[in-house]
Amino acid sequence: MKPPPFTWHGPRSVDEAIAVLGEVGSEGKVLAGGQSLLPVLAMRLAAPAHLVDINAVEGLDTITVDASGVTIGALVRHTGLLRHPAAGNAQPLIPQALSCVAHATIRNRGTTVGSLAHADPSGEMTSVLALLGGSITAQSTRGARTIAAADFFVGPLESTLAPDELVVSAHFPGTVREPGTTSGTAFAEIARRHGDYALCGVAAIARVDAGGALLSLRCGYLSVSEVPLVLELTDAWNDSERAAVELARVGVDPSSDIHATAEYRRSLAGVLTARVARTAIAKARSVPELRAG
Ligand SMILES: Cc1cc2nc3c(=O)[nH]c(=O)nc-3n(C[C@H](O)[C@H](O)[C@H](O)COP(=O)(O)OP(=O)(O)OC[C@H]3O[C@@H](n4cnc5c(N)ncnc54)[C@H](O)[C@@H]3O)c2cc1C
Repeated sequence: MKPPPFTWHGPRSVDEAIAVLGEVGSEGKVLAGGQSLLPVLAMRLAAPAHLVDINAVEGLDTITVDASGVTIGALVRHTGLLRHPAAGNAQPLIPQALSCVAHATIRNRGTTVGSLAHADPSGEMTSVLALLGGSITAQSTRGARTIAAADFFVGPLESTLAPDELVVSAHFPGTVREPGTTSGTAFAEIARRHGDYALCGVAAIARVDAGGALLSLRCGYLSVSEVPLVLELTDAWNDSERAAVELARVGVDPSSDIHATAEYRRSLAGVLTARVARTAIAKARSVPELRAG
């Protein structure tokens, strides 16, 4: 099917983009990589009268890595971020999860910020942003604001972004480096075919002390709740692996659809929790001296 008619806008700067968004309000949609928006238009699930194409906007394609983590501009493609060694060093969950996002051709065009703005609870990077306690920065003619992931995702494909706001960047906190502790991360998902949206996916971050005792274990889930879900599993894991798996199974809230039943997704959440938690803890314990991965 063809998309409904729209007026195309091609701003060259953030100021131009937010000026158009301010004028068209809820009649407008930002077009980034188009990998989610164009299918939505073609299927006539949305009919915005104006598309604000940001692909020629200057200065949105930067990746900044510093002591606080990784900040990416709105035009950074999944592939660009996946192949950025410094970003992966600062936060290993980024490449671990990004390599599971769709297929290479979609990653070449789709933007990571676009997938966050799309707020799909089946998206790998929404769950990683939530698990890390990251944030997005949005700009409009009213000014800029930074929104924590916990306050950003409010429902399936629903965020607290206003129609006139442009997400200019997203921030993924880096590995926590505290003296006497080491961290490990892991990501795993099950999809019917490689590149499909996951039936369930889990990201884990573990932190251990110098003796290898577990200090912290948190997991982020995708495709098993209406918004990206984060579970604190430290005490349960220290009790037993079985207790942590049970907490995960009870904590998720999956739905049935044509791809899988809710019960199957719940079962996957338990299996994958055990898998990523073991890997993340083992990595944390194998780090010689504050080198996390
Ligand atoms: C076959 C297929 C398989 C896929 N599989 C996966 C998968 O497994 N995991 C996954 O996470 N994704 C998957 N995707 C989606 C892909 O990751 C998209 O790239 C991503 O969701 C959207 O990024 P985009 O740049 O293409 O955004 P667009 O499609 O351009 O926009 C998506 C939405 O976000 C809004 N938006 C985009 N950028 C901004 C911004 N800067 N400010 C405000 N609003 C903005 C748009 O208005 C629109 O509503 C798949 C896509 C396809 C076609």
